[in-house]
Amino acid sequence: MSFDGTYDRDNIFAKILRGEVPSARVFEDEHVYAFMDAFPQARGHTLVIPKHSQARNLLEEEPQILSHLILGVQRVARAVRAAINPDGVMIMQFNGSPAGQTVFHLHFHIVPRWADQPMRLHAHGQMAEMAELKALAEQIAAKIS
Ligand code: AMP
Repeated sequence: MSFDGTYDRDNIFAKILRGEVPSARVFEDEHVYAFMDAFPQARGHTLVIPKHSQARNLLEEEPQILSHLILGVQRVARAVRAAINPDGVMIMQFNGSPAGQTVFHLHFHIVPRWADQPMRLHAHGQMAEMAELKALAEQIAAKIS
């Protein structure tokens, strides 16, 4: 069911794109929108989503939109690295709830990793403070090139 099905226009990311739900914006262009994950698995956890898409997952996406999206992921991942200097960067993408997907609008996760720090659980725990997320978003945005 979660792997198939129809796109829900009222999913949380669609609402973020419409400005109905607040988000800590890192970057946007004509094709993609990047913002801080509200339940970060590590400091600087950023999400990148297509702006004009009704794909619920990677398998449904059109090649043209996917091309712009992955280029956006690379651009934002470079900025995350430049801004907060992690030891590594994990790029994650889940398709269907058994695979870990909880929001059904295609997205990529950029999760900074430090050698001595375990990653927190996925989509769990307390929501981060918006002020903190916005401060990080600004730091990362300043390094977008
Ligand atoms: P996934 O489980 O791969 O579908 O990822 C969805 C991600 O969205 C999770 O990492 C959640 O922490 C994150 N998330 C859920 N609601 C919000 C929100 N309102 N703002 C930012 N991130 C969110």
